[in-house]
Amino acid sequence: MSKTPRKDLHPRTQAVHHGIRRSQYGEMAEAIFLTQGFVYDSAEQAEARFQASGPDEFIYARYGNPTSRMFEDRIAALEGTEDAFATASGMAAVNGAMFSMCAPGDHVVAARALFGSCLYVLDLLARFGVEVSYVDGTDLDQWRDAIRPGTRAVFFETISNPGLEVIDMKAVADLAHAAGAVVVADNVFATPVFSRAVELGADVVVYSATKHIDGGGRALAGVICGSRDYIRNTVEPYLKHTGGAISPFHSWIMLNGLATMDLRVRAQADSAAAIATALQGHAGLTRVIYPGLPDHPQHDLAMAQMGSGGTMIAVEVAGGRDAAFAALNRLRIIRISNNLGDAKSIATHPATTTHQRLSDDAKAHLGITPGLLRISVGLEHAQDLIEDLRQALEG
Ligand SMILES: *Cc1c(COP(=O)(O)O)cnc(C)c1O
Repeated sequence: MSKTPRKDLHPRTQAVHHGIRRSQYGEMAEAIFLTQGFVYDSAEQAEARFQASGPDEFIYARYGNPTSRMFEDRIAALEGTEDAFATASGMAAVNGAMFSMCAPGDHVVAARALFGSCLYVLDLLARFGVEVSYVDGTDLDQWRDAIRPGTRAVFFETISNPGLEVIDMKAVADLAHAAGAVVVADNVFATPVFSRAVELGADVVVYSATKHIDGGGRALAGVICGSRDYIRNTVEPYLKHTGGAISPFHSWIMLNGLATMDLRVRAQADSAAAIATALQGHAGLTRVIYPGLPDHPQHDLAMAQMGSGGTMIAVEVAGGRDAAFAALNRLRIIRISNNLGDAKSIATHPATTTHQRLSDDAKAHLGITPGLLRISVGLEHAQDLIEDLRQALEG
């Protein structure tokens, strides 16, 4: 079965091999164990397994599955955590990470600039008696004021969607740890390739695997990475009884995604840097927001934390919503959609789609202006994407 993890291997090697479990047939590729149940040799064995199951013993696919366990082991090795739990979607992961550890009366501090569904989960926590304080994620004074002794957890997206604000993880983690709080980082925009979340103080790292881990926009999945104690004694009981289990087939897609993720994400980030640079100063744009550009307010922090500006760009089209829509409608290669991290480049108008439910005040506060477009840079040739964007902006 699985071999002892080798910590000396580079992440790209681990992303290809780590965690593989081979059956008696010695198959080369990871097998899809598309089974919900497992057969016991005897009644005694069934009884023993329900009392305590080992790492390679399974009971029911809602609790765990060999294909899913391969994915969990592989992503945990890449992220540098002891363990991981895979889920049906990124939101099942956010929900599982937070609800499994909170109880009424607990206090959580969160950055305000969050994906809409993450805000919904935090509002749900509040509905069940958890006090949630929101702060401007880039303002350390606000974190310092909001975190208090006994705060249960802090939650943030390391790079915010769609404004691309970068959180100073080390500084926020130091404040949180001094108060005894658990640091939960939604690290989707940073990607596992550029992640140093654990090194910078995150205790729990959450991914929507739907994005860069799949990398082809095919399947929903999520994963929670953390200590063995937290994953197996807090997260697993919550998820196995509430039903956010990943399909073994989706785990297999994600395992294959991990094998090519490093190459893909680095190529996408190189293209994003080239596109952001090429668009800077374009007459049709009032702003180009990309953490890899020196004029980004947290450029130095982004480079120190990730060593890259990432795969996402935001641009503000001059002329507001009508001009932004006209540009979207003229795109020939980049598709109008709302996923990200896909091999296909995607453009999104957050104000009328992903963030449409926010009030005008909240949108203004998060920089979601009528002209703002979010661009997820894919695997096409950068020059084709630059030309597509130029012709779309120039009409
Ligand atoms: C997409 C996304 C999620 C939710 O992931 P799903 O797989 O769609 O459920 C959570 N957080 C961030 C930052 C995301 O971009």
